[in-house]
Amino acid sequence: MSDPSTPTVQTVCAACGAVNRLPRARLAQNAFGAKCGRCGGRLLEPHPAALSEARFDEFVGKSDIPVLVDFWAPWCGPCRAMAPALDRAAERLSPDVRVVKVNIDEAPALASRLRVSSVPTLAVFSRGRELARTSGALPESALTDWVRRAASQA
Ligand code: ZN
Repeated sequence: MSDPSTPTVQTVCAACGAVNRLPRARLAQNAFGAKCGRCGGRLLEPHPAALSEARFDEFVGKSDIPVLVDFWAPWCGPCRAMAPALDRAAERLSPDVRVVKVNIDEAPALASRLRVSSVPTLAVFSRGRELARTSGALPESALTDWVRRAASQA
């Protein structure tokens, strides 16, 4: 993660796109109680948040917290089959990692720009930089281990 001497951590609200700063101590003690300064919604949640194409660059680029992105599609059987594993992985990884889902049918330009050619594709970003990517569904433990390894390079 970011420099631990910094007293605040910057992260972005998945719902409204506002950039929020959280005291690092708050993140350690009561991360899931943190509310967005603009929309009042929960900023960090222990389950995947839907992320739109319009918010993607800001969300992954302005977050000090590494972001796991699940590129999926409603017609993709393996994506649906993996959803419960992704939910459990999000519980285990939050708040160290933010977990979001991008429906590529609703984000064609983004999928094309990032060359996401199959679903599910999983990618870990840190401040907009892609650290790792894998295609195909993973079971929960393999997914969690892979994300932690990738995020440790942030
Ligand atoms: Zn918000």
